[in-house]
Amino acid sequence: MNDDLKAAVIEQCRKMEIPLVRVANTERWENPPFLPWMPEDFYPQSIFPGARSVIVIGLPIHLPVIETAPSIYYHELYRTVNTLLDQYTYRLASFLNDRGHPSVFVPRDGYGSIEVLLKNPVAFFSHRHAAFLAGLGTFGVNNTILTPEYGPRVRFASVITTAEIPADPLFPEDLCTRCMLCVHSCPVGALDELDYPDGLTDSAACAANSARLGRRHTSPCGICIRVCPVGEDRRHYARSAAAEDPRHLRAREHVQKYGGL
Ligand code: SF4
Ligand code: SF4
Repeated sequence: MNDDLKAAVIEQCRKMEIPLVRVANTERWENPPFLPWMPEDFYPQSIFPGARSVIVIGLPIHLPVIETAPSIYYHELYRTVNTLLDQYTYRLASFLNDRGHPSVFVPRDGYGSIEVLLKNPVAFFSHRHAAFLAGLGTFGVNNTILTPEYGPRVRFASVITTAEIPADPLFPEDLCTRCMLCVHSCPVGALDELDYPDGLTDSAACAANSARLGRRHTSPCGICIRVCPVGEDRRHYARSAAAEDPRHLRAREHVQKYGGL
């Protein structure tokens, strides 16, 4: 195990202003924490044979921006965060390669387009499961990873490495309160408490909604992430999940007039 290397990776993340970083070892994919689990082809050691560790980073989605979702505002933030995640994980993989540890980045999306997702609603690697196994948070009914810092308002990307880096513990408690705000807010009925934590009840309906919004340049939908009460970011931005401030509703109405036809 390489504690010094882990400290160096964390320091690199600090320099890049990455607020969330944790490590999982690849054995965790072989010991599913719940069922059903993914097929072996999706394991990091299948995608990159010889892999021993997965470094997962997370960047927040600013709460006041996703409060306007679906909107051009959230659409642009989503694209920006995705670009940063790809760049940061590429740079972290390069950092490890330069120190003699063969490593690869995994882009934040691995499916091509929403149209592809409509036919095959999975990516070749799940950052959500990697984030869970690295101890960044736990699955919510809305099928995302809830974190104590940002609830579900965070996006993840991963570096797969042959380096043996000490793993972080799994997150010790279930963060989802089962308030069902996400279920009741979904505009296409894609979520159901009964399917938690196995996945979206109707992923095709969610993907179809995203495709529709994409044609208006206002995808992704994000409503089930917007309404979730979990996350310290609510306190930071002084936002209640129970009752929306009329000023925030007015801001959403204004922003939603733009970016779509
Ligand atoms: S992103 Fe939108 S359509 Fe998809 S599950 Fe969440 S609320 Fe429903
Ligand atoms: S909105 Fe409520 S039920 Fe849905 S993920 Fe968040 S805490 Fe869980």
